[in-house]
Amino acid sequence: MKYISTRGDQSPKHFCDILLEGLAPDGGLYLPESYPSVDDATLTRWREVYHQQGYADLAFEILSLYIDDIPADDLRALCRKTYTAEVFGTGEIVPLRHLEDGLWLEALSNGPTLAFKDMAMQLLGNLFEYELGRRGAELNILGATSGDTGSAAEYAMRGKKGVRVFMTSPHGRMSPFQQAQMFSLMDDNIFNIAIEGVFDDCQDIVKAVSNDLDFKRQYKIGTVNSINWARLLAQVVYYFAGYIQATEENSQQVSFTVPSGNFGNVCAGHVARQMGLPIAQLVVATNENDVLDEFFRTGVYRVRGSADTHETSSPSMDISKASNFERFVFDLLGRNATRTAALFGSQLNQVGQFDLSADPLFAQAAGVYGFASGKSTHSDRLATIRDVFQRHGMVIDTHTADGVKVAREHVQAGTPMVVLETALPIKFAETIHEALGQLPDRPAKFNGIEALPKRVVVMPSDAARVKTFITERCS
Ligand SMILES: *Cc1c(COP(=O)(O)O)cnc(C)c1O
Repeated sequence: MKYISTRGDQSPKHFCDILLEGLAPDGGLYLPESYPSVDDATLTRWREVYHQQGYADLAFEILSLYIDDIPADDLRALCRKTYTAEVFGTGEIVPLRHLEDGLWLEALSNGPTLAFKDMAMQLLGNLFEYELGRRGAELNILGATSGDTGSAAEYAMRGKKGVRVFMTSPHGRMSPFQQAQMFSLMDDNIFNIAIEGVFDDCQDIVKAVSNDLDFKRQYKIGTVNSINWARLLAQVVYYFAGYIQATEENSQQVSFTVPSGNFGNVCAGHVARQMGLPIAQLVVATNENDVLDEFFRTGVYRVRGSADTHETSSPSMDISKASNFERFVFDLLGRNATRTAALFGSQLNQVGQFDLSADPLFAQAAGVYGFASGKSTHSDRLATIRDVFQRHGMVIDTHTADGVKVAREHVQAGTPMVVLETALPIKFAETIHEALGQLPDRPAKFNGIEALPKRVVVMPSDAARVKTFITERCS
């Protein structure tokens, strides 16, 4: 299996070549040359694998179609080391729970940081350690986070040989729970940097450091952001696991509703569907930051400025542009790299938007690719959290509430609708309290974490200071 860039770079690469890379050299995103197709017999076999051997072995089956430069035994061992009941709380890893008529919840947030990003990041940590070990190389991950990504990355990389994590976050702006999760890590290879500024300042610092190519090369700076193909690939697995749990035979179809920000999660659903998984609809659910809902409704993709990007009660979906969206558009345009490069390169840079509404291909987003969309507001999410609690006695988080709200608008009789649960409510306790007048349950292992000692340095918003900090830790 070789990988190509959405913007036409002609040098195909293998999985491990792109594992440690971010964007392709031409600014595009990596995708496999073609999607392997899964026939009926294989899907039936995978049912057996999931039910008899478990999630890790299903992950191995799927990953091995895309990874031909890690020996099979090693890859299987990496999957088994990653997807354990100890790390993910249950043997099923992603258990499906029935909510109401036609609607199911797939639990993706029982990993170490209680958000779905653990599903991919935990595998990435093990893949990085393996590949860096093979190459005798090191990597310094520099990131910016407003919450979930940073903690998922730190919990995946802690104690891993060859990797250091330098994670910037806006000083005093994460929830106390999120701060406690990240800052209580005492591992030698994890460094928390609280920047006196907002999330955009953190992102600007990461960009400034990464744009200093000499520094980047000398200090082996890398990222773990959501455009990393390995993260996306890891996420494909739980669409298969969700489908297998929701059905008894392959003639049945299932739809998924996915709380979306950067289009990473639902893009994995698109890949699963392209592989032949019988998915009817892929419903993209956004919050007030509705870049994606607007596209699927109108054909216009309009990137927002920071003044136009809202801080919401589902903060992990507060995006101004959807960084994985280029992958889907590349497929939608019949894999026309020249057109994709024109739209996402010059057009977005110069005009900030593109409009496919008049292009006959746009109709295929719904017709051929199964996409639909919807959005929620803060009051929708409060109402949904309240309603799900009153009717089902279940507390759901704000992102999942967005998914449930939108899913209910798209349920089709006879087709199970699976909502991906992307976080546990304890991460967003304030909003749960606002909705229910009570705080959500806290998993026992998180009792008292706010009182643990914290390891974090506070710094002004200054890329040079961050570089010096990295330099001092790498000598
Ligand atoms: C990151 C995140 C999302 C959005 O996922 P994308 O892949 O960016 O679309 C949704 N919910 C939670 C809880 C998240 O952490």
